[in-house]
Amino acid sequence: MRKKIVAGNWKMNKNLQEGLALAEELNVMLAAEKPACDVVIGTPFIHLAKVSEVIDHKLIGLSAQNCADKASGAFTGEVSAEMVKSTGAEYVILGHSERRMYYHETYEILKEKVLLAIANGLKVIFCIGESEEERDKSIQNQVVKAELEGSVFNLSAEEFKNIIIAYEPIWAIGTGKTATSGQAEEIHAYIRSVIAEKYGKQIAEDTTILYGGSCKPSNAGELFSKPDIDGGLIGGASLKAADFKGIIDAWKK
Ligand code: PEP
Repeated sequence: MRKKIVAGNWKMNKNLQEGLALAEELNVMLAAEKPACDVVIGTPFIHLAKVSEVIDHKLIGLSAQNCADKASGAFTGEVSAEMVKSTGAEYVILGHSERRMYYHETYEILKEKVLLAIANGLKVIFCIGESEEERDKSIQNQVVKAELEGSVFNLSAEEFKNIIIAYEPIWAIGTGKTATSGQAEEIHAYIRSVIAEKYGKQIAEDTTILYGGSCKPSNAGELFSKPDIDGGLIGGASLKAADFKGIIDAWKK
């Protein structure tokens, strides 16, 4: 059975004290009322080690938002997958459209990052999704297929079990424009079919596919009601414990 997950992506928000306060607040909320899904928070690198100490990892998984494409050495300013793992984090978000766009992360670079993350025992939340222009041209399926083929379909079936897909249409990220649940379900089902072609039906059925893009408490229930939508990757709404909890609670309805 595949996991239902609600994962937060804090991006470059919250200083260390604010981040710790948010993690603690969420931990208290979830300890008082157990979630009906797995919960993950993706914090900036510098928060990881401290946040790791204040959360109950049985309630909240911890994720980085990136890792280096090299194992170690003279790469000033970079943070390796091994370093991420050593903080107590269990996940890393890779392939986010902001990293592809602003930091020019190519399929090849992401392929290296994914391999290093898995080799170091991290689960990868791998983001894919089309731009508005690509959707207008109705080539969204080709775009997500190419992203999978370019960076994760080189993995063995055993390695691929560490991949969680996050479908995030770029036009819906931080814009307030959410994909309709029908649009999201259609492409999630397509993504699952592409995984089935590559790895077989069972692995495809067991793969968690999250939706991301202006997901909030008011639309999460409708999105999560679809058979191929297994939760969400949440940006803006993960920065307030009450909003994030509102999305987590969508799995209780
Ligand atoms: C994201 O960046 O992963 C995201 C989904 O952002 P938002 O929820 O703010 O659209």
